[in-house]
Amino acid sequence: PSAMREVAIDVPKVLWSDIGGLETVKLKLKQAVEWPLKHPESFIRMGIQPPKGVLLYGPPGCSKTMIAKALANESGLNFLAVKGPELMNKYVGESERAVREIFRKARAVSPSVLFFDEIDALAVERGRSSGAGNVADRVLAQLLTEMDGIEQLKDVTILAATNRPDMIDKALMRPGRIDRIIYVPLPDSETRREIFKLQFRSMPISEEVCLEELVLQTQKYSGAEITAVCREAALLALQEDIQAKCIMGQHFQHALSIVTPRIPESLRKFYE
Ligand code: ATP
Repeated sequence: PSAMREVAIDVPKVLWSDIGGLETVKLKLKQAVEWPLKHPESFIRMGIQPPKGVLLYGPPGCSKTMIAKALANESGLNFLAVKGPELMNKYVGESERAVREIFRKARAVSPSVLFFDEIDALAVERGRSSGAGNVADRVLAQLLTEMDGIEQLKDVTILAATNRPDMIDKALMRPGRIDRIIYVPLPDSETRREIFKLQFRSMPISEEVCLEELVLQTQKYSGAEITAVCREAALLALQEDIQAKCIMGQHFQHALSIVTPRIPESLRKFYE
């Protein structure tokens, strides 16, 4: 049986409008992936090559996965997602074959986006991987071979995501491979406002809840942490009264003391 039978091919339902803020990130991705596919003649006219692969990097929980899905969905591309660590662990002894198989699948359903989440697990800089060193080197070599074999515009666009850009082997980032790098930062105030608004659409929020105050209080929170604050506030309201009809400011204040920003100091240095 194929090692990759679990890799589902689908067109995800995420829309650009489901992702709050991050307007420049969205624009850069459209330029890098959507424009070349939809207007190849314009790229030829301008004498520029579209990227074969794009790396999204930044702190955890800041919507890299959502962005990859929205891109595939809104550009009408098939979407295949693989998690780096799964490839390395689940298919012990078959990791290289699994890499070949994923690319074969992606090509078969082209035009497609092949998304490698946590790519650092696959593309550890040589010499840095401990223990399974040889396997890691062989998987990386296979990945490079496959990337060199795809043709931009016609078939597969590689999208990769990582929280640890420093761990990625430089060979993967050469021109013609993953040659575009886009930083997905912690949400700025505008983005935090949009994330709250998106959450509030489906929640009964009391009129006295002050959105601007929450925006100011969530500096250094990731998008995932902001959604966690909203969920926690709703649970606190229910805890107080299971028949509660709305979520009050006090619930948010309490939630903010429970859900605090968790990006470790040790990781922060990679995002400046
Ligand atoms: P990780 O690095 O941990 O895989 P990630 O950057 O891929 O994280 P996602 O899994 O895409 O992050 O996002 C986590 C969750 O946070 C999303 O499912 C969504 O609920 C919320 N979220 C984060 N950023 C945004 C945003 N800008 N707009 C709307 N929701 C967001």
